[in-house]
Order: sequence, then C-alpha cells, then structure tokens
Amino acid sequence: VKIKSVGCVGVCNKVPLIDVVLENGTIKRYPNVKAVEIKEILHHHFKPAGYLKRLKNNIINRVDTYHTDTTWDNVIWKPENERTGLIDTFLESQHHIATEGYGFLAPLNLDEYIEHEGFKALKTTLSSYTRENLIQDILKSGIRGRGGGGFASGKKWEIVAAADGQQKYVICNGDEGDPGAFMDRMILESYPYRVIEGMIIAGYAVGATKGIFYIRAEYPLAVKRIKRALELCREKNLLGKQILGSDFSFDISIFEGAGAFVCGEETALIASIEGDRGFPKQRPPFPAVKGLNGFPTLVNNVETLSQISFIIRKGVESYTQIGTENSKGTKVFALAGKIKNGGLIEVPMGISLNQIIEKIGGGLENNEKLKAVQIGGPSGGCIPADLCDVKVDFDAFNQMGAMMGSGGLVVLSEKDCMVDMARYFLAFTSEQSCGKCTFCRVGTQRMLDILDKLCSGQAQMDDIDKLEELAINVKQSSLCGLGRTAPNPVLTTLKYFREEYVEHVNGIC
Ligand code: SF4
Repeated sequence: VKIKSVGCVGVCNKVPLIDVVLENGTIKRYPNVKAVEIKEILHHHFKPAGYLKRLKNNIINRVDTYHTDTTWDNVIWKPENERTGLIDTFLESQHHIATEGYGFLAPLNLDEYIEHEGFKALKTTLSSYTRENLIQDILKSGIRGRGGGGFASGKKWEIVAAADGQQKYVICNGDEGDPGAFMDRMILESYPYRVIEGMIIAGYAVGATKGIFYIRAEYPLAVKRIKRALELCREKNLLGKQILGSDFSFDISIFEGAGAFVCGEETALIASIEGDRGFPKQRPPFPAVKGLNGFPTLVNNVETLSQISFIIRKGVESYTQIGTENSKGTKVFALAGKIKNGGLIEVPMGISLNQIIEKIGGGLENNEKLKAVQIGGPSGGCIPADLCDVKVDFDAFNQMGAMMGSGGLVVLSEKDCMVDMARYFLAFTSEQSCGKCTFCRVGTQRMLDILDKLCSGQAQMDDIDKLEELAINVKQSSLCGLGRTAPNPVLTTLKYFREEYVEHVNGIC
C-alpha cells in the first residue's frame, strides 16, 4: 500500500482528510480523521489476515472510547462519500485548472508533476512558439488578471514585451492580504510547479531573464515549498541557463513581503522589493514600462500564472470554451461565512452565485435564509440574495458595484448585520491605508467614525448621507486601488440595504 500526502483539496472543514484509493480506482473518503482511527481505516480496506474477526469483537468499544463527542460515532466504517456524498458534491461540481491534480499530486514531487503533463507547456513554448505567437495566444485566450482589477493579461504581456529595457522582470504577486482570502497561499503551497511553469513561460514571452516570487512572510510553508521547488527545477535544467537546451535563460528568486495589504498594489510591491517603504506611485509610468529598478516589469498574480500552462498545453480553444464572453477560464474562491461546506473552490466563470452556494457549499448552515454574498473581500461589495443568480463574471460584478477582487466569497444570512459587515471591512482598509493621500488616509477614518456611531446607536439621519458622500469622494479621489475600492462594501450595503442603516439610527437594531 502506497501512502502519500498531497496538496490542499480545499475541503477545509473536513480535514484531516484521508482518501483510500482502491485497486479498481474507487475512492473512499474519510473526513476529520484522528490519529487513532487511521489503523482501523487501513485495516478495513486492506484486511490483514485474521483482522476482521478481531475487529468485530473490538471495534464498538474502541469507537466508544475514542469518539464520544465527534461525528465519527457509529460511522467509522462508512466513508463520507457513502454516507452523505457531501465532499464529492463539493469537489465534483468544480472545474480544476489552477488546482488540476488535486487529491493526488504531492506538492514537491517534480517527477510526478512531469508524469502528469507538467512542464509540457514549457517544452511546447520553447520548441514551437515565437514570442509574438505566444502573446497572441494569451491574448486570444481572453485570460484576465485574477488579482483584482481583471486587466487583460495578454495585453499586459504585450506592453512589457514591446517596452525598451536591457533587463526585464516577471514578478509573481503572492502578497495576498485580504481577510478570509487564502487562494494564493493554497496554490503556492500545493501546486508550486504550475506557478513556476507559468512564470517561465511569461518570462519567455516578454523577454525577461529574472523572475521574483513576492510572497508574504506570513506564509512560511509557501516560501519553503517554493524555495525547494525552485532548487529541484534548477537540478533538471527547467530554470537557469539555456533552459532545456534552448537559448532562453531565466531564473527565479524569492522576496518575502512584510505583510502590508497595500504591497499587493503593483507599484507599492515594487517599491518594497527595491528596499523602500511600500508606497504606491502615481501612474503612468506603468510598471510594464518602468517597473523594478526602472526596467519593464510584468506583475502577474499567482492564480493568473497558474492558468498559463493549461492554455498552452490544451490549446486556446479549450480555455475559451470555459466561462462567459468576457471572462474566460476558472476562478478560485475562498468560500466562507454561513455556509455548510466552506473551503477553497475553483469554479468555471459563468457559474451563478446561487449554484456555488447550493451545489458546492451545500446551502446555508442551520437552514438559515440567504441575505447576501460579500464578494472580493474589502475591495469588493455585497450582492443581495435576490440578485445571486448573477454569473461569476468580472463585468457583471462591476456593474453591481462589487468586484471580483482576489476571490473572497463570504455568505451572509438573515442574521447578519450589513452595517457591521461594512464596518468590519472598512476598519481593515482604514488601518491598512499607507497614508500617502488624504482622501484615503483621512476619508476612510472619518467613514469608520460614522460607522462606529451607527453601530453604537449614536448616529443621526444625516450621518448616512455624509457617509455616502465621503465614500463617493474617497472612491473617486484616492491614488491607488486600495483607496479607490475601500468604499465598495459601504456603497453596496447603502445601495441594497439602506433600511438597515436607517434602523440603526432609529435604534431598531
Ligand atoms: Fe496609500 Fe490609500 Fe493613497 Fe493608496 S489610496 S496611496 S493606500 S493612502
């Protein structure tokens, strides 16, 4: 029997999770496993001589002894997928591109990654693509940046490729700092080679020779795994001089960020690598033209880079078949809040929020009623229940005043207070404001003061109008994305749940 540990499968509320893969390929899934149960699970399936007989006599006592307060009572011999099928529903309603190989790829096993078509896209790139053709294919794929704004990735690649510079860089932005978001962390920890492969291909396309992983220092396992994965890639000549015998040389280093949310903004991230304080800069010039050390720099998010190998390996058409007209491929979300099955999910663009909540999330906890979904973390906004048939699509979310953001998806029930929710996210962005421009530094603080007054029952009716006016001004006048998107949770809750603000003034809640 082979025993292996694999990368994250996203089923956060069911771990530790054991999959027993039988000879005929059937998978039996055991969630929330405790150490004392492992031996029984293995023996149940692999039946050492004489064990079953002993088992019959002993097992009930052993279960009673060890599992008085867990859901394991009475079910130890029935895998989860034979009882409720919840994990199967959770996993199989998804579409795996960034997380392809979930449940069987060991994160650092390079040979295994290669056996499953890993680095095939890189080989194809180096043997069959000119830089121009490669960029054309990325443009045709329609892939848009997964870090928040949804800018066309191919366009960005094209600008960097066309820019003049003796040196060019590719930076993988792994500075994920939104509360409740851990998509990048999971991809870096569990699928490091996929991101590395995407980065090398991007480097080839834009003519860069150096790549940098910018990863939060708060993600030590991600840093450790990427570091080791880079070493193993160098040993196989997948990185370094004349990669795989081609004339293309590219190497990657790691830079650990110190945990400022604003460093996820490209210019602040670059300032941080240069050793300066993570202050965003006025654009233009854009980093694609004048970035790290003054040279053209491609900054792509972890999830964006993790989709590149699929596009090359399976072909542009395979990718464009997934999604909506203007949002192609898949999106990884951190599904959280009042949901039965929370975790990390990867879904095709075009799926509706209701489908995510019902099919993947299994509905709301305790059968509570859906009130809204907060999408995109502190930069995003809320979408009320009656509009949750909206499809996952960059433009559809923007039209509703929300945004895709990096991928937080918090399900809220009728018991949640929307004013509290807006205050929670604004407290975060206000604290994370770098202070460079007045609208964001002072404006978000004043907004927070009003929200505090509302939540403590001390606000007047005209405070709601002041809050709205401030939010609009902060959104329009801030320098960078942090300030420009910070008011979104307030503006969307005012748009869809204004009556709750009024109730706070009237002392009803
Ligand atoms: Fe700093 Fe906020 Fe201005 Fe961005 S908008 S530069 S975070 S003060």
